[in-house]
Amino acid sequence: MDFKGRKEGRRKMDDGLRLDRIIKKNEPLAKYCSYNIGGHARFLALPRSLGELDFLINCCQKSGLRPYFFGLGSNILFPDNPDPDTLFVSLKNMVDWSETNGELFLQAGFPLSFLAYTGFPGLSFTHLLPGTLGASIYMNARCYEGEVSQILKKVYFLDLTDFGAGIKELEREGCCFAYKESIFQERPWVILGADVETGTIVQEWWKKEVQRVKELNLSSLDAFFQFFGKTLYSRTEIPPAQKEKLQRIAADREGKKQFSYPSCGSVFKNNYEYGVPTGILVEQVGLKGVSRGGAKISPFHGNFIINFNRATSADVKYLINVVQEKINEKFGFIPEPEVVIIHGQED
Ligand SMILES: Cc1cc2nc3c(=O)[nH]c(=O)nc-3n(C[C@H](O)[C@H](O)[C@H](O)COP(=O)(O)OP(=O)(O)OC[C@H]3O[C@@H](n4cnc5c(N)ncnc54)[C@H](O)[C@@H]3O)c2cc1C
Repeated sequence: MDFKGRKEGRRKMDDGLRLDRIIKKNEPLAKYCSYNIGGHARFLALPRSLGELDFLINCCQKSGLRPYFFGLGSNILFPDNPDPDTLFVSLKNMVDWSETNGELFLQAGFPLSFLAYTGFPGLSFTHLLPGTLGASIYMNARCYEGEVSQILKKVYFLDLTDFGAGIKELEREGCCFAYKESIFQERPWVILGADVETGTIVQEWWKKEVQRVKELNLSSLDAFFQFFGKTLYSRTEIPPAQKEKLQRIAADREGKKQFSYPSCGSVFKNNYEYGVPTGILVEQVGLKGVSRGGAKISPFHGNFIINFNRATSADVKYLINVVQEKINEKFGFIPEPEVVIIHGQED
């Protein structure tokens, strides 16, 4: 396969990549998501290259295991009892990148928030937005007047129903982006990477910092905030005007206590037809601060459900139902979850 000029041979079961070297067994999913919730996965893998990913998909197709692809788990509610026939595959270690003339190619696992530090004002909105590039394309992540769809040129992916065809690509226009929607939510496709418009040549210090990504556990919101909100922010190379913008974003997110407790960010999408943000509606039905087990509807932001004390997936799902019922009763519609709920054996 030719991936951005790098030839990567297809791996076979017998060519040196042994399953037991890249598949972890009995791993707590809680460790791989920002909610810190999730039981033990029978199988979990963290491929570091396209070759390893290819190998894992081949294994699934031969063994009947179902692969579930994800990034840093910042928008996922993992189950308390995961399905034993699923191989959970996080692409968070696929973080290679390259630069040509103001355009970056980034692999799917690249942390999106790094883009805020390229020096290009059009990328500032990514500051402190948890997660990987691949998932942000899948979710069409958006905030502070920016949306991931605006910064992409081309997306590279594998089609699991046409695996033999190798890497496919789509221009931005083909990705069917809409509010929190993309074509990738409708198809069995794995996003491998994308070309991103940076509008600038990235600086040397940025390139050096990027090398540190693999050492960090960015699924932990605490580690994520320490690195992007403190360590990188303290770098003097960022132009003052841009630094001010990052400061405003950080103040807003910190004001809502977004990094103080494990969470998945906003639990529900906004209903633009109704015209009032879901967080405000939750407040209006008096649910802020309501808890179940170790989960609580955040007193600081009505659309967040936080894990304040070893919450289970069942606790969060209970509160999701409560919010849906109360909003439906009072405003006549059921808010649609934004968080991706993975069903387990209990469901
Ligand atoms: C504190 C906090 C604040 C947040 N604020 C915002 C915000 O302001 N705006 C916003 O939009 N979101 C926000 N989020 C949600 C989250 O940051 C985004 O949804 C982000 O894109 C998730 O990235 P991830 O790598 O963690 O995705 P994951 O949670 O790992 O995955 C999310 C979905 O993407 C799919 N996916 C992941 N990688 C791939 C791939 N390579 N190919 C195909 N499918 C894939 C997964 O299957 C899953 O369905 C917030 C979350 C937190 C915890």
